Amino acid sequence: MNLDNMSVVTETADVYCLDTGMFDVDSYGSVYIIDREPALVVDTGTGQNIDRVYEALSQLGVERDDEIAVLLTHVHLDHAGGAGRLLQQYPGACVYVHEQGYEHLVTPETLVAGTKAAVGDQWRYYTPPISIDPARLRVLPVGESVQIGESTIEVIAAPGHAPHQLMFYDVATDILFTGDAFGIYTPSQDRIRETTPPAQFDLERNLTDVRRIETIEPTRVCFGHFGSTTFVHTQAESYRRQLIEWVEAVRQQRAAQADDEAVIQHFVSTIDSPYRWTAERDRAEARINTKGVLGYLDWKQSPNWDNSTVQPGEENSMSDT
Ligand SMILES: [Zn+2]
Repeated sequence: MNLDNMSVVTETADVYCLDTGMFDVDSYGSVYIIDREPALVVDTGTGQNIDRVYEALSQLGVERDDEIAVLLTHVHLDHAGGAGRLLQQYPGACVYVHEQGYEHLVTPETLVAGTKAAVGDQWRYYTPPISIDPARLRVLPVGESVQIGESTIEVIAAPGHAPHQLMFYDVATDILFTGDAFGIYTPSQDRIRETTPPAQFDLERNLTDVRRIETIEPTRVCFGHFGSTTFVHTQAESYRRQLIEWVEAVRQQRAAQADDEAVIQHFVSTIDSPYRWTAERDRAEARINTKGVLGYLDWKQSPNWDNSTVQPGEENSMSDT
């Protein structure tokens, strides 16, 4: 079988990783397809290049009127932007999401506004999402297992990157789909880099999420960006340290620079080489990750800061990536 832009996930027989070509970059955006009854699709990409998802499903023998379960790790548009389009093409498909993400799929305007504010000129790589009929949405039970046909999926909260983010543990394969909880993996460099976008990145929660991954101890982790790797504890320890050091670096630059834009420019202009993707993509990543940490630092300094509470506006403030 010739699988364009798609490869089977190592150590599995029925889990496929599709490269969506997100942001016109190879090896950045993953969509996973679990080839069972029904087919499971983990995340959908931005909606640009959604044809790649249709072609992948077709190559795996999924027909247009078959049942499909779309599981969204979170509703940031680089993960959920294509969901409405996919539902239009597949009348038997429905979407599973955290209850805090549900309303954003029905009424995506806030999500679009938040994303535009966060990503700036990168918006040209997105496609406006299509509203989803509530009749085709299912709320996932956080902390529990769901049985979807042949698949048993454990639904695990991972609120550090976004309060409504979930990870999915596939019992049959011992694989964990981490969304953006475990950073961004670049297979060619075998490196994990931070992903800390506005408006709701929370360091302490993200560190807890990584510890949760260590507790689960899956055979393999499947990243939202990009691909999969064997899980090893040193990688988790290293990502926790990396998050702490990254937040500290932004804090120090804020103390040294004139204003927040200067802090952002500092990190945009001092990207380590070689580039991970393209110069444009790398700079966009540096910009959004710095903005996310600056927002987190503001929140942490506010008199209302408390580890146990949520950031203000959390229910209606959405961004990326
Ligand atoms: Zn993402």
